Amino acid sequence: MLVSMNQVLKSAEDRQCCIGAFDTPSLEILMAVLKAAEKRNEPVIVQHAQLHECEIPIDVIGPIMVRMAEDALIPVCVMLDHGEDIAYVKKALSLGFSAVMIDGSSLPYEENVRLTRAVTDLAKEYNADVEAEIGIVTGHEGRVYDIRDVSEAYTEPELAARFVKDTGIDALAASVGTVHGFYATKPKLDFERIKRIRELTGVPLVMHGGSGVSVEDTQMAIRCGIRKINYFSYMSNAGVKAVKKLLEEQDVKYFHELANAAILAMEEDVLHAMAMFALD
Ligand SMILES: [Zn+2]
Repeated sequence: MLVSMNQVLKSAEDRQCCIGAFDTPSLEILMAVLKAAEKRNEPVIVQHAQLHECEIPIDVIGPIMVRMAEDALIPVCVMLDHGEDIAYVKKALSLGFSAVMIDGSSLPYEENVRLTRAVTDLAKEYNADVEAEIGIVTGHEGRVYDIRDVSEAYTEPELAARFVKDTGIDALAASVGTVHGFYATKPKLDFERIKRIRELTGVPLVMHGGSGVSVEDTQMAIRCGIRKINYFSYMSNAGVKAVKKLLEEQDVKYFHELANAAILAMEEDVLHAMAMFALD
């Protein structure tokens, strides 16, 4: 069933664990994520990132995401990831998305507040929840980043608290040592910072760039207050590896054989990620 972000984050809070949020810029990825969540019988968040508009338009994948969420046997939140402008946020909401993330993190503080505030006002009309970001989680899916580049972009706990108050958001994406995409060097998470931000803001925290963080560090971050982890790159790459392997081993004639092999491998990877997020 289609549910709100606050509902799934509340269930994570009750269980003191974390919900996986997966970008699904293809039907194969969407199927893999929902199959894994149903297998584990746990809530899940599926997301469409505005930067994936060029891979697949929200007009195409959005209605499929909403329909599959409604039909799912488990609670599913359908969410916009890294919304960049009001028009796109509005499009997601009008398609029936139950939550949106607006990313004004590269803007000066006051402008970030203004943009985020406009989104929280708009989301209210649709009864949808809002995540926003302060501090910058750098990187982009599909490129490799050096973790040393990001230390100056960490979220300041006091400013984060002010931001939550000024905007009325439901969840906060904080920069605590992760980057998007693949890591060039081992990430170093700032656990004290996570605890302090959680303490001062009082809202569920979101960690972006979940791929490539060790099980130990991921679970420590969850114990410090992370309630949603955005995880994409490793899952997507698991699909690529499966397709490569199949092409090396067999003389494949039909595309759907590649698609199905990718779905199976990505489902396995999501099962693994969900177990880690559930502190299993
Ligand atoms: Zn992100």
